[in-house]
Amino acid sequence: MKVILQNLTKVFPGRSRKNKADVIAVKDFNFEIPDGELIGLLGPSGCGKSTALNLLCGLLQPTAGKIFFGEDDVTELPAENRGVGMVFQNYALYPHLTVKQNILFPLENRKGAQRLSKEEMLQKAQEAAKLVQIDELMDRKPGELSGGQQQRVAIARALVKMPRILLMDEPLSNLDARLRLQTREEIRRIQRETKITTVFVTHDQEEAMSISDRIVVMKDGEVQQIGRPQEVYDDPVNLFVAKFLGTPPINVFSGRASSGKIYIGKDAVLEAGHVPDQELYVAIRPEGFVLKKDGALGCRLGRVEVMGRDISVVSTNDACTEASIRSIISAESVVDTKSPEVRFDIKPGKIFLFAKDTQERIR
Ligand code: ADP
Ligand code: MG
Repeated sequence: MKVILQNLTKVFPGRSRKNKADVIAVKDFNFEIPDGELIGLLGPSGCGKSTALNLLCGLLQPTAGKIFFGEDDVTELPAENRGVGMVFQNYALYPHLTVKQNILFPLENRKGAQRLSKEEMLQKAQEAAKLVQIDELMDRKPGELSGGQQQRVAIARALVKMPRILLMDEPLSNLDARLRLQTREEIRRIQRETKITTVFVTHDQEEAMSISDRIVVMKDGEVQQIGRPQEVYDDPVNLFVAKFLGTPPINVFSGRASSGKIYIGKDAVLEAGHVPDQELYVAIRPEGFVLKKDGALGCRLGRVEVMGRDISVVSTNDACTEASIRSIISAESVVDTKSPEVRFDIKPGKIFLFAKDTQERIR
């Protein structure tokens, strides 16, 4: 089922005496989520991700705008009639019920004609449990399960109703690193199997990049960029998006355009005949540096970290906006650690220019 957000806006009135200003948690969202895709809503804490999700599921009413599921306008529809499955960070299982009873709960809550027979309910619960691979644990209580298993129960409970849309709000945040990795692959598999249109909220760019068909990068209630993860990584529209995606993060320098060349300090790092003379930001991905004796950019060598496959060269440059520069180069490269200076050429396609004032991309 495709989902359309049309001028969707949510304003929370400022309540505290100190801060009377309204909070625009979601500002004029206009996009379509294609049927069967997994969309990652990505942005820092407080940027409006949960608010957007709660608008989609009907826990919140928008201040303005509309939501469509397929052709249906569901803006006014109560949450329980929208046919959405929700999964939250904290699982929210009933501790006194068994796994089976937890999964059955949404089905047993149905009234009238919608209600299934006992056998049908049990069969559906069993199918959902099997899908998330907890069918062996049906008689346990949540307290007898690991965090990862509890989250699987929560996912099964959301899936048992065969929702039209699956909404997940930071579902992996409470899991330790290894389980997080494993569970996110599971979620991907389940989503591919069921083909349920899914919105997955996270502040973790790596998580969003790895799991999503498409990411929506947000900041302060506003959509910054929408696209396939690699597209957004390779073609960020502004400095915020460039900095938010990628580990180690992109290296940002204060630079300038002068007579068709881009300078960092006194080093000309890029030909850019189309860019008028100005101060600007030059951002270089860590994998964009190529070690070279007479390379374009000179930096003071800090230390070299060998990480198996790659070498991470940590260096400094007065024009860099952070304390140090991180470059990732192939492990075959030899760094002369006795030299105070290290020089790099910059790979085209890994260097971006941004306006000093608006921080928008200069193309
Ligand atoms: P995220 O999930 O991205 O961390 P939220 O959607 O929870 O962000 O919050 C977005 C903004 O809206 C924040 O500034 C938050 O303080 C504010 N906010 C969220 N819920 C409420 C509410 N019920 N009342 C007032 N302000 C709220
Ligand atoms: Mg949130």
